[in-house]
Amino acid sequence: MLALDVIRSAPKVVLHDHLDGGLRPRTVIDLAAETGYDRLPTTDPDDLATWFRRGADRKSLELYLETFEHTIGVLQERDAIVRVAAECAEDLAADGVVYAEVRYAPELSTERGLTLDEVIEANLEGFRVGAGRAAEAGHSIVMKVIVTAMRQFARSVEVAKAAVRWRDAGTVGFDVAGPEKGFPPTRYLEAFDLVRHENFHITIHAGESFGLPSIWEALQFCGAERLGHGVRIIDDVSIDPDGEPVLGRLAAFVRDRRIPLEMCPTSNLHTGAAASIEEHPIDLLRRLRFRVTVNTDNRLMSNVSMTSEFAALDAAFKLGLDEMEWLTLNAIKSAFAPFDERLQLINEVIKPGYRRLRSRAGRALI
Ligand SMILES: [Zn+2]
Repeated sequence: MLALDVIRSAPKVVLHDHLDGGLRPRTVIDLAAETGYDRLPTTDPDDLATWFRRGADRKSLELYLETFEHTIGVLQERDAIVRVAAECAEDLAADGVVYAEVRYAPELSTERGLTLDEVIEANLEGFRVGAGRAAEAGHSIVMKVIVTAMRQFARSVEVAKAAVRWRDAGTVGFDVAGPEKGFPPTRYLEAFDLVRHENFHITIHAGESFGLPSIWEALQFCGAERLGHGVRIIDDVSIDPDGEPVLGRLAAFVRDRRIPLEMCPTSNLHTGAAASIEEHPIDLLRRLRFRVTVNTDNRLMSNVSMTSEFAALDAAFKLGLDEMEWLTLNAIKSAFAPFDERLQLINEVIKPGYRRLRSRAGRALI
């Protein structure tokens, strides 16, 4: 089994992490006091962390999403967004993440009058500040923003336009999130068309709590380049009488076209999309060489980090360093940053990082 400090020091890439799902418990409490938010269930940081985790682990996507009321509640001022985004960059960098795409739905922070553009600007500023502090502490990280539209609201076109508007300042893609049932991806076609016509990038939460039709719509109607979760693609993989996996047309398309799956194993246990890590489809999908990536989704609600997710996968499936590097390269190849930035990270950061860890492990054996 890989030692925790090896996993932590290995370069990692996260493509699916929500800004409003990764606050430090202490920060939620501070911001609630500063901004006059009085609906927190407790003001003790440990109790609050436990409350979020229990609230999230109720085997339903809809119940999971309820816990966000409080993180969103304290993200209504510019300074609060800057602080949370800065801490997000610092926390990811301290966890050994070298490249992160963190997503947020700016429409969630408009309750006290901020505009979509002001929210995106604050988010980008926080990442700039946090990445700067992380670099001073010896952990370099590249931070990008994915702008999300919430399925249950009707502002997707406006949000998509704002996402594109900030592309030269660090937004790299557009996403839709929220409850899947009753909100199929094709509801937001106008927004996706706009994004595609601007040569901008699309990832869509699909195939998390809902099955193959949402994956099919996301890919074949909406132009998704990646799938948020996509875990239900396993429903299109059957096992023949000899025990060999057989791919249906949609699963074959996803694998053949190297469509990245932004998998978030622990989050899937909490929303009920998988029963246990051992039974999570990520194992079969990676062995079939789908373009699997490993992600956190919501670090606060699911009480995870990139290190803890890789440790859980290593304990269940004996990943080892080679497989961890493969999963990390899958992620950086699938990132929305420009090709030259990705290539530089592969050649100058990720591959040398894993080489160093392998030689360290080799020396330890002698
Ligand atoms: Zn998500």
